[in-house]
Amino acid sequence: MYDPKSRKAEEFIDHQEILDTLAYADAHKADAALIDSILEKARLRKGLSHREASVLLACELEDRNQQVYELARQIKKDFYGDRIVMFAPLYLSNYCVNGCLYCPYHAKNKHIPRKKLTQEEIRAEVIALQDMGHKRLALEAGEDPVHNPLEYILESIRTIYSIKHKNGAIRRVNVNIAATTVEDYRRLKEAGIGTYILFQETYHKESYQKLHPTGPKSDYAWHTEAHDRAMEGGIDDVGLGVLFGLELYRYEFAGLLMHAEHLEAVFGVGPHTISVPRVCPADDIDPNAFDNGIADEIFEKIVACIRVAVPYTGMIISTRESQKVRQRVLELGISQISGGSRTSVGGYVEKEPEEESSAQFDVSDSRTLDEVVRWLMELGYVPSFCTACYREGRTGDRFMSLCKAGQIQNCCLPNALMTLKEYLEDYAAPETKAVGEQVIARQQEYITNPRVKEIVADRLVKIAQGERDFRF
Ligand code: SF4
Ligand code: SF4
Repeated sequence: MYDPKSRKAEEFIDHQEILDTLAYADAHKADAALIDSILEKARLRKGLSHREASVLLACELEDRNQQVYELARQIKKDFYGDRIVMFAPLYLSNYCVNGCLYCPYHAKNKHIPRKKLTQEEIRAEVIALQDMGHKRLALEAGEDPVHNPLEYILESIRTIYSIKHKNGAIRRVNVNIAATTVEDYRRLKEAGIGTYILFQETYHKESYQKLHPTGPKSDYAWHTEAHDRAMEGGIDDVGLGVLFGLELYRYEFAGLLMHAEHLEAVFGVGPHTISVPRVCPADDIDPNAFDNGIADEIFEKIVACIRVAVPYTGMIISTRESQKVRQRVLELGISQISGGSRTSVGGYVEKEPEEESSAQFDVSDSRTLDEVVRWLMELGYVPSFCTACYREGRTGDRFMSLCKAGQIQNCCLPNALMTLKEYLEDYAAPETKAVGEQVIARQQEYITNPRVKEIVADRLVKIAQGERDFRF
């Protein structure tokens, strides 16, 4: 029985409710009156239910689809301005005991080189990341209680936060590791992590079981209920995501929004972020082996519909996607992107020869961080290296209530400009710096509070003189 408040995976992600939702969406995909009323509700910017959003996703009326895109663009602009938050993944270890059929780290892949970074190697990777200009990382590791126990992850987080190289610092570590216990989540929280991110991969239980034939991850309920345990362990900010291409995208879309509704119903706070990866090529993995690959146009529509359905949730895209697709979805809703990423273990210090690659997936956008930063600015965006909220204790419901009151933007733009200034001073190529100075001068004018504007102007001068780490 479908119950968003239930703590059981099969009840808050109820298969029959998803099937009914898809049938409802199909029945109404050309129902102009209903679609107009859903669009009307979406314009209030308070979000949509999984059923309503599924109708928009299925909508076949071209003019209404254009209205969905237009609204997504407008919500993106109103809630996130021109800012795009930058991050990089850091792969600690690709040892894994699971059997995920879509990932080259699965335990049966005997030819991929297995690597686990020592604390010394982590130090070198972090220095390389700091020298690029990164301040925010997403830690990645396979599940392996022998090679990558929680103690190893915790020690690695301590190492990362301790490294201060030149003006560099990693100020926020988000963690993307396997589902674990409330007690382990509590320890991650104590270690000072930002968001705990766990992709569901697929919400379709039967497919999930086929795609995860072996290992602890094969337990659908354990995996799907992980965010609940993380929140019980005190982690306020959790991230959701599905791997589009494994199952029918409309099924995944409904499941994803039901998961968000569940978190909101039980904890009073929806997901902090939603990631939208698509299956892509890697060692041992051919995306064509999965029948449900989606075209770029559908992918763009999914992003727009998520933006409209959950306006307060940040959306993340990785370098799996090409420059072209990234450009399009930035406009429709994405608020965080990675840049200059290496998806192999130890890849920031040493580029691996292709035949010995330990990468989890092939990167489509292989530009350097500086190239991505310049590209964003030339498109009119403000790349932001801000990590302020979690460091100021603005997490969970505190963060969401500021978002919903529209107040968070009073912090975001000033923080974006100050962290961009740090980047320009410390890491940017001369051409990037020249473009960036113009962006900062222009964007300063959009700070509405005169006192804040004055403080920002003063701090920008101080950053040019060598001071660092100002934040609101
Ligand atoms: S997706 Fe994660 S759990 Fe599955 S094989 Fe890859 S690293 Fe292991
Ligand atoms: S102020 Fe908070 S919400 Fe805004 S960019 Fe910084 S960390 Fe994100």
